[in-house]
Amino acid sequence: MKMAVYSTKSYDRKYLELVNQQYGYELEFFDFLLSPHTAKNAIGADAVCIFVNDEACSEVLQEFKALGVKTLALRCAGFNNVDLKAAKDLGISVVRVPAYSPESVAEHTVGMMLCLNRHIHRAYQRTREANFSLEGLIGFNMHQRTAGVIGTGKIGVATMRILKGFGMRILAYDPYPSPLALELGAEYVDLDTLYAESDVITLHCPLTPENHHLLNATSFDKMKDGVMIVNTSRGALLDASAAIDALKKQKIGALGMDVYENERDLFFEDNSNEVILDDVFRRLSSCHNVLFTGHQAFLTSDALISISETTLQNVSQLDKGEVCANLITV
Ligand code: NAD
Repeated sequence: MKMAVYSTKSYDRKYLELVNQQYGYELEFFDFLLSPHTAKNAIGADAVCIFVNDEACSEVLQEFKALGVKTLALRCAGFNNVDLKAAKDLGISVVRVPAYSPESVAEHTVGMMLCLNRHIHRAYQRTREANFSLEGLIGFNMHQRTAGVIGTGKIGVATMRILKGFGMRILAYDPYPSPLALELGAEYVDLDTLYAESDVITLHCPLTPENHHLLNATSFDKMKDGVMIVNTSRGALLDASAAIDALKKQKIGALGMDVYENERDLFFEDNSNEVILDDVFRRLSSCHNVLFTGHQAFLTSDALISISETTLQNVSQLDKGEVCANLITV
C-alpha cells in the first residue's frame, strides 16, 4: 500500500509517520497543494491523502483514476473541496476524519474571543515596547453576556460547554437541534433572533452551497452594534468584503478569523517576504480589532495524533474490504 500525501508540513509528517509504525505503508510526502497541475505526482499510489485547501475537482479525480488511485483520504472533517459526484462516477472512495478533537477547535475559538475582548494581542505588542498604557484596552465581562452559536454539532457543543462555564446565556441555531446543547441550557432560536440578541456570534456549521456568505451585509445589519464575530469554521461562510464595511461602521466591534474565503493563496505558507496582493485580507488585517490565525484551530498534538490514526485506519479498512464508517456517500 502506497499513499501520496499532499500539502504536508513537518507536523503532518511527524504524526503520520509515528502512527504508520503500526501499518508499515509507504508514505510519499508532497509539500505542495493538490491541483490539476500536481495530480500526476500521485503516480504509483493506491491512496491519496489531502487537506482543506487541496482541490479534488473532476479533472484531478480523472487523473487519479488513470493512475490507479482507489482511495481519497481527507485528513479533515469538511469535504467542500471534493467533487463527490465525480469520485462516485469514477469509483474512487472518499473517506474523512469526521471527529478528531472538537475541543481543539472549541478552545482556539474561545481563545480568539478572549484575546479580542481583552485586547491581549495589543497588550503583547505594547508591553514589548514598554508601553503600559491601558487606553483603548477596555473589554467586557463574558459572564451574563449572550453567545450565539451557529451549528451545534461536535465543535459547537464543545464551544458551548466552555462558554457555559463563563456563565453566558447561549442562543443556538441549527436545523437539527442537539440534545447535548439543550442539556447545556442552549435556547434554539431563528437566525434573526440570534443576530439581534447575541454579543458574541460564533460559526460552527459546514460550508454548503446554501450557506455561502451566510454572514453578509444584510445579516450584519441585524446584529447588535459592536458585536464580536468569530469564524473558525470555513472562510466563505462570511462575506469578508462586507465585513470591512461593517467594521468601518463599528457594527462589528471585533472579528476573529481562523479561516478566510481566499485563504488558499495565503495560509499555511510564510508570505512575509511577498507583496500581498489580496486587498481584502490586507484591509482586514490592518484593523486593531481583527484577529487572524492561519487555520490553526485544529493544531494540537492530541488532534494531530487522532487525525493520523483515523486517516490510516480508514485507508486500511478500505484496503482490506472492511466496512469503513467514515466513507462519504452521496
Ligand atoms: P458536525 O458535523 O459535528 O456539526 C455541524 C453542525 O452544523 C450539524 O449539527 C449541522 O446540522 C449543522 N449545520 C449544517 N448546516 C447548517 C446551517 N446552514 N446553519 C446552522 N447549522 C448548520 O461538525 P463539527 O465537527 O462540529 O465541525 C464543524 C465545522 O468546523 C466543519 O464543517 C469544518 O468546516 C470546521 N472545522 C474547522 C477546523 C479548523 O481548524 N478551523 C477544524 C475542524 C473543523
